[in-house]
Amino acid sequence: MRYSTVALSIAACLSLSLACVPALALTPSSADSQKSKTQKALLIGVDGMQYEKLQEAIAQNMAPHIGSLKLAKSYIGGIDGTSTEQLTNSGPGWATILTGSWVNRHQVDANNGALRNQAPSLFEQLKRAAPQRKTTSIVSWGTINDNFAEDIAQGYIDSATKCLDVDQCVADKAGYELEHGESDLVFAHFDEPDLAGHDHGFATEYQQAIQGVDAQVGQLLSALERRQATHPKEDWLIIVSPDHGRRLPDGYSHGQQTLSEKTTFIAMNKSANAQLTDPVSAPTNPGHSGLYGFASQADITPTILKHFGVTPEAAQHSMDGLPLIGALGVRQLTAQALPATSQVVLTWQGDKPRGKPVHIYRDGQHIASVPNHQGEYIDNDVKAINGNVNYTVEINKVPVSRLVTLQH
Ligand SMILES: [Zn+2]
Repeated sequence: MRYSTVALSIAACLSLSLACVPALALTPSSADSQKSKTQKALLIGVDGMQYEKLQEAIAQNMAPHIGSLKLAKSYIGGIDGTSTEQLTNSGPGWATILTGSWVNRHQVDANNGALRNQAPSLFEQLKRAAPQRKTTSIVSWGTINDNFAEDIAQGYIDSATKCLDVDQCVADKAGYELEHGESDLVFAHFDEPDLAGHDHGFATEYQQAIQGVDAQVGQLLSALERRQATHPKEDWLIIVSPDHGRRLPDGYSHGQQTLSEKTTFIAMNKSANAQLTDPVSAPTNPGHSGLYGFASQADITPTILKHFGVTPEAAQHSMDGLPLIGALGVRQLTAQALPATSQVVLTWQGDKPRGKPVHIYRDGQHIASVPNHQGEYIDNDVKAINGNVNYTVEINKVPVSRLVTLQH
């Protein structure tokens, strides 16, 4: 509460300054803006913050800072009934957010600090492309840093802090780093909405937890605002997002594949492309009232990498998500193995403008280019392959991938 008055005016100031300085928005294709701007990113995790309950808080002016960002619905939990399906729990959720991949790649299938992420993380991909970049991960729920212990050991995460469920510790440490530090990428994770949900369900305490974390988000935004006064050439991407929703009707729990548990949101300070702003109206999988037509939590890491100008080559690409800024990749990509005929069928949506080539890769090998409006490609050449195969489909120089397991 003690932040609310100060933070309100700073949020208004921040959104005003972003609106008034369009040059701050990076155009990835513009070499000039790449040279003159220093890209930075702040990813704020808000554990267990339910989309509809956040909307209620925003409507009641209890979440003005998250409400000042561009906010859209998204989903978590993979696609149920497929190899990407994962529990709507925090371990799998944060692993997806921090890798751009689902559980069949990251292998964090439970809330278990002994598990180690197996997919190239946001931190690793950024550091491999730009080793001079500095990364920080400050988490309220320490299991996240445990799941990414390899990233810490390898130096992909330069500074890792566990705040032991004290969210104000996260706000203070991340706020200090943002204002005074040299990090290029800061991940700050808050846990109170999830804790309040487990203890009280959808009660006053839950709305107060949303309000409290929003004030802490405001603390970070005002720290960045002060920084920008002395670092005007820095171009910060800010994303606020949760790892899962909550089970109806009471909000105490989560973990299953229900609409409310799978529904999440992505709030950004930058203009997004259609993957976030214009959900697919007829998703290939129509389940959960069309939820799969929206962006997913797997899109967050590709978006941050795109902001940094780091786009993995199609031949090396292995992320399931699409960048939410810049050019649009193919949407609704599916890859299905047909063991009876030893085929893999790829499908996608996105046919405008008609006739643009879509480039298809199997385990890094370019195997075909077809016009986008074809919407399908059948790989007949997989009889000799057993095990996992990574397919990548690229259009507009934007790759997106799916992992298929072949068993003959
Ligand atoms: Zn929880």
